Amino acid sequence: EYIVQLDHEKSSHIIMPAIHKTKEQIAQLFADKLNEDFGKPPKDATVDELIGVGRKVLRQKFMQADMGISGVNFAIAETGTLCLVANEGNGRISTGAPDIHVALMGLEKVIPSFAELPTLLKLLTRSATGQIMTTYLNMISSPRKDQELDGPSQFHLVIIDNKRSAMYQDDVLQETLTCIRCGACMNHCPVYTRIGGHAYGSTYPGPIGQIVTPQIEGIEHAGDLLDACSLNGACGEACPVSIDLPVLIRELRNKQTSLKPPHRVIWNIWRQFYRSTKRHALLSKFVSLCSRLPMPTPKAWSNTRTFPKPAPESFSTLIKKQKENERESE
Ligand code: SF4
Repeated sequence: EYIVQLDHEKSSHIIMPAIHKTKEQIAQLFADKLNEDFGKPPKDATVDELIGVGRKVLRQKFMQADMGISGVNFAIAETGTLCLVANEGNGRISTGAPDIHVALMGLEKVIPSFAELPTLLKLLTRSATGQIMTTYLNMISSPRKDQELDGPSQFHLVIIDNKRSAMYQDDVLQETLTCIRCGACMNHCPVYTRIGGHAYGSTYPGPIGQIVTPQIEGIEHAGDLLDACSLNGACGEACPVSIDLPVLIRELRNKQTSLKPPHRVIWNIWRQFYRSTKRHALLSKFVSLCSRLPMPTPKAWSNTRTFPKPAPESFSTLIKKQKENERESE
């Protein structure tokens, strides 16, 4: 998070915000942006050296802060305990060092009791980073008590709805609320891994972003995200809590097409061609004929990419030819 903030960027992954940067780029960034007091790293600095620099800068900020803000991974209703997992120690220091701790929590984070916690923690850490357990596991049940030496004197919990109640009202889409934010669906999504997190333009990229963002911001504003999916199903298979992401994406697409009549017309035409092999073959022929004509390419898109040309022969024609060749050689 600190690296992307220093570079005035947004996170590209919910677990690994700076995954799009190389260690050389980070060394250069630290050298450009940090002052001498923190020890400017050389361009060939190792990962450990870079972590050392970040640690030095951030420790100072944490120790001077009046208020620490954290998220919440799970909240245990039985005891009022918040559970936070972290690897860098930032979770513990920001909830322990400043005098005030404010935790921001989506309302779906509440679980009934400690009995459910081990299973959820195992699923989260293994799917997020492949670890058996994260380096830090924080359990916070109250602000500092009279006999305690450290910890914040005030604790405030902000419970965020932000359309979550509406998600809960929908029989199909309420599954969205079972997400534990592990990021596994992104790591397995062929679209996310090709285009990167920034292309989604939302805090949650990848498959989970495709179902969360349109529901929070409204399908009419963020519905285009639903098109960045080939419905290959990899996300649904990777999800440790078995959210049927492709089904939810299809459900939201249905809602989107019912909102936009032109979308409905286009999909209906598409469906006519893909329902019949004859019509599909006709369409393939037409597309391959078009590929020989000079066609305008979308400029903004092709500025940094080569626009793909449809294959001169369709897949089914190639298979047909192969079969004919096999028959002739028999
Ligand atoms: S949808 Fe599943 S795989 Fe994706 S972040 Fe949520 S829990 Fe993890």
